[in-house]
Amino acid sequence: MSDWRSYATHLECSATGDTFPIDRLQGLSPAGKPLLVRYDLDAVKKNVSRDTILARSADMWRWRELLPVREARHAISLGEIETPLIALERSKHGSAAPIVKDEGRLPTGSFKARGLCMAMSMAHGFGVKRVAIPTNGNAGAAMVAYASRVGIESFCFCPEDTPEVNVREIALQGGRVWRVNGLINDCGKIVREGVEAAGWFDISTLKEPYRIEGKKTMGLELALQFGFDNLPDVVFYPTGGGTGLIGMWKAWQEMQQLGWIKGKLPRLVAVQADTCAPIVKAYDEGKTHAELWPNAHTIASGIRVPAALGDFLILDAVRKSGGFAAAVSDKQIEAAVTRVAQEDGLLLCPEGAATYAAYADALAQKKIAPTDKVVLFNCASGLKYPMPPADARLDITKPIDYAALLAGRI
Ligand SMILES: *Cc1c(COP(=O)(O)O)cnc(C)c1O
Repeated sequence: MSDWRSYATHLECSATGDTFPIDRLQGLSPAGKPLLVRYDLDAVKKNVSRDTILARSADMWRWRELLPVREARHAISLGEIETPLIALERSKHGSAAPIVKDEGRLPTGSFKARGLCMAMSMAHGFGVKRVAIPTNGNAGAAMVAYASRVGIESFCFCPEDTPEVNVREIALQGGRVWRVNGLINDCGKIVREGVEAAGWFDISTLKEPYRIEGKKTMGLELALQFGFDNLPDVVFYPTGGGTGLIGMWKAWQEMQQLGWIKGKLPRLVAVQADTCAPIVKAYDEGKTHAELWPNAHTIASGIRVPAALGDFLILDAVRKSGGFAAAVSDKQIEAAVTRVAQEDGLLLCPEGAATYAAYADALAQKKIAPTDKVVLFNCASGLKYPMPPADARLDITKPIDYAALLAGRI
C-alpha cells in the first residue's frame, strides 16, 4: 500500500486536554486518564475524499488516514473485514426490522480484534517485545493472536470463571495464560504491578490510546454502509469497558468535521446486564462517573465489567447523542439468543443478544419508535459460547419410525 499515510498529530488527555507527542509509546495521561489520538482533520479534508476511501478494499485499513499506524509495515493483519449488516426480518417486534452488525466474523471471532489489531500494530511499530492484559477472554485471545504474528511475547490474566474456550484459544495461539482467583480488577492489578517487575507493556482497556482507534472503525464503517448521510436512528451497544461506544462517537465527530456525514447522529444506547450495570445506574442517577458494581456476574462475560476507566466518556457520549442506558436480565438474554437463532438463523453471542432484548424493551416502553432505523451490535460469534444440549440419537439397526420422528417423539 504505497499511499499509506496517517494524519495523527498528537495525543490529548480526555480529562485535562493536555497534549502529548504522537511519536512515543504512551499509556495513561499523567492525570491517570485515557489519552485520545488527534488528527490534522483540515489536511485530511484537503487530501482525502469519501471516494478515495470507497475505492479501496473493504477492510479496516481503508481508513488509514484516520488511524494512528504510521507505516504500512507496522500494520499486523489477520483479515479485518468490513462486517455485514443483517436484518432480522422474522424476529422484529412489529417494528422496522432491526439490523445486526455481525462482528463475530472478525479474526478471533470477536470485535476485540479491531482494537487489539490497532494496539498491537502500534506496539510492534514502537518495538515493544512483551505485552500483558487482564481479560474476560476475547480481548486476551485477540491480543495474543496479533502478538504471536510478529513474535511479541504475551501474558493474559483471567478471572477464574472465564469461559474455557477463551482460556484455551489464548494458550493455543501462543499466549501465556493464568486463571486468577479474583475479579477482572484483581487481574488488572497483577498486570499493573508487573510493568516494573516483568517489563511488559500494559494493554488494559483504555490504558493505552490505540484500542479506541481500532474500535472507532465500527463507527466509520457504519456510516459508510449507510451511505454516509443516512445514519441509523439508534445504535444499541453492549457496554463493558465502553471502548466501542467511545470509539464510535469519536468516529462520527471526526467525520462531521471532515464534512463526510451530515444530519443527525445516531442515539447511542449503552446496554448492560442487570447484575452488572454500573453505567446504567450512573445514567439513571444523572452522575458523570459510575461507582464500582459489587458482586458483578452475568452469562454475558464480555460486559461483566464492574468499573470502567472511561465511564465519564461513555456517559458523555450516551447523553450527547440523546440516547440512554438500559439493563436486561440473563433470562432475557437467553430468550433472545434462542429467538433470533430460530427465527432468523443468526447465532448471537450473549452480549449481542442483550442488545436485542434491550431493543424489545425500548420498543415496548416507547423509548424508540417502530419506524426507527435500529442497529444492534453482535460483538462475537455465538459459536464461542456454551449452547443448550441436543442429544437425540437414531439406531440404524432398527427401522426408522418417520411419523414419530416428525412428531418429535424420537
Ligand atoms: C469486550 C466485549 C464487550 C464490551 O465491549 P467494550 O467496547 O469494551 O464495551 C462486549 N461483548 C463482547 C463479546 C466482548 O468481548
